[in-house]
Amino acid sequence: MRSPRPATGSVPGSTGARTEPPAGIPARAISPAPLPVTDLALAVDIGGTKMAAGLVDRSGSLQERAQVPTHGDADARTDGRTDGRGPEVLWRRLADLVHEVQLRVAPGDRVVVCGVGCGGPMSPDGETVSPLNIVEWRAFPLRARLHELTGVPTHVDNDAKALALGEGWVGAAAGRRDYIGIVVSTGVGGGIVLDGRLLGGRLGNAGHIGHVVVVPEGRRCPCGGRGCLEAEASGTAIAALTGHPADVAPPSIVERTGTLVGRAVASVVNLLDLPLAVASGSVALGFGPPFFEAAQREVDLRCGLDYARGARIIAGGLGDRGPLIGAGCVGWRAVEALV
Ligand SMILES: [Zn+2]
Repeated sequence: MRSPRPATGSVPGSTGARTEPPAGIPARAISPAPLPVTDLALAVDIGGTKMAAGLVDRSGSLQERAQVPTHGDADARTDGRTDGRGPEVLWRRLADLVHEVQLRVAPGDRVVVCGVGCGGPMSPDGETVSPLNIVEWRAFPLRARLHELTGVPTHVDNDAKALALGEGWVGAAAGRRDYIGIVVSTGVGGGIVLDGRLLGGRLGNAGHIGHVVVVPEGRRCPCGGRGCLEAEASGTAIAALTGHPADVAPPSIVERTGTLVGRAVASVVNLLDLPLAVASGSVALGFGPPFFEAAQREVDLRCGLDYARGARIIAGGLGDRGPLIGAGCVGWRAVEALV
């Protein structure tokens, strides 16, 4: 990540002394040229644990970032007071975060678009959002509010779809026209790029691999079903199964989780003729190689048709920058043809 630009006229390591122009060259000939204008996307990622904002340039580089807990200290009070919650309290926290990042735009640079990744469900085009894990926002008009706040065109999409876009833009799926991006974290989500285009679906929810069934008659899922990938392999499910957070899960759980993710991926590979799955999120990336090896074994086992054989499941390449780069991509792709 780039550190904030030094103020005009200050150069790291400089003593501040002015350098005289060489003999014969008028002083104005070496006066600083105007800095090139960099167009930026204001990227916003909204999750149940934290909200983040950053600046992403046209080449996919995340230049600035800041984050706040989605719910502040006041929200955690257990004395029955509720003044720390509510849709407008949360909105004010997000608006302050956006403002903080806007202040970091270097002189001469400009924000031309705002891209947002947010937990679902949401109405088409993210006009209103009702994230499952943000109870304050139900049909919250996020796109219009951010548009009003920033004054630039604003585009909202599902956070897992945004991350899939980011991986295809400058991450582990760069240059690929057919892949699924999966997030295995507190929940499980995904986004599918097919024939070079992000799948939307009737209401914008295409790619939601979290509710592909991997254990018939398995654990109850919040969706009303049983044995969905999210109900078996999410951080929430792992904590319920083991009694401990996913980051201390034993090897048997790491392997089981990888196997189940691989099982869901295999079904998608077979269904859509996809050669690649890119998995991110704290559970997948935290578990690391043993998780991916188990997932790949399952994919190999279940993808036997000619077109599906050899499909790969690999780790996302953007690490913790992925959600903001993906959100930036949601904005940029509306400005120019990206994915
Ligand atoms: Zn489900």
